Amino acid sequence: MSQYIVYTDLDGTLLDINTYSFDLAKEAVSMLNANHIPLIFCSTKTFAEQIYYQHELGVSAPFIVENGSAIFIPQNYFPFPYHFDSQVENYEVIELGKPVSLIRKAIRDINRNLGMRLRGFNDMPMDELERLLGLDKEKINNALAKSYTKTLLNSLSEKEVLKIKEELLKNGLTVTKGSKFYSVMSVDTDKGKAVKILNELFAKKYKQFISVGIGDGLNDLPMLKVVDRAFLVQRHKDFWENLNYDNIEKIEAVSSQGFSKVIRLLLAQ
Ligand code: MG
Repeated sequence: MSQYIVYTDLDGTLLDINTYSFDLAKEAVSMLNANHIPLIFCSTKTFAEQIYYQHELGVSAPFIVENGSAIFIPQNYFPFPYHFDSQVENYEVIELGKPVSLIRKAIRDINRNLGMRLRGFNDMPMDELERLLGLDKEKINNALAKSYTKTLLNSLSEKEVLKIKEELLKNGLTVTKGSKFYSVMSVDTDKGKAVKILNELFAKKYKQFISVGIGDGLNDLPMLKVVDRAFLVQRHKDFWENLNYDNIEKIEAVSSQGFSKVIRLLLAQ
């Protein structure tokens, strides 16, 4: 069997889009672990959130946080030296994003100058967040611990998005749509750039491997474009996000069920 490296989105892919449950993906993840196939989370979620899911699923590979803003690599994971920017707990961190303080300031400026009311998680009372996200306080705090991105809760028209993009660009920032919410982040950062860097490191570890990407939304497109095999799971029954990209294998199942289907397909080949 070929050596696979699997990159996966979390929300709406490995995790159920509404409940964030990974129950239906558990078996597939165990199959990857048993076959020593690295499973790399590549998600908008934060370090604190991804650590939680890694622990719950018994995954110990590198992971990509906040939409490609930083790569966390467990110490001694790669048996050779490489460049990293900082160290957090037992991880070596390659940073690609811009600090969240700069993003907060840019959003304040947009609200003031364009008379908009862009709101992030931090601008909302905890009880309202609990209702909106259906998560407990601890999980919400993990979601709030963003270092490189800010989530917007607004529903925005295409015109508003363009206007915001134009303003953000003045600070080297942009806005991108995930499964549910918009994220503001560095314009130089996306999931694809981070995947490319990790792939270069894996290329030193394995002589030959096939990189696989699994996603459900627009912010997964840069990741899906840089892998050998790109899979798109359904957003909801019989509906795939339109990514305008031909080199993609559409899976006829939603979220975690779609994720599991991809893993079974790979392992059967
Ligand atoms: Mg998603």
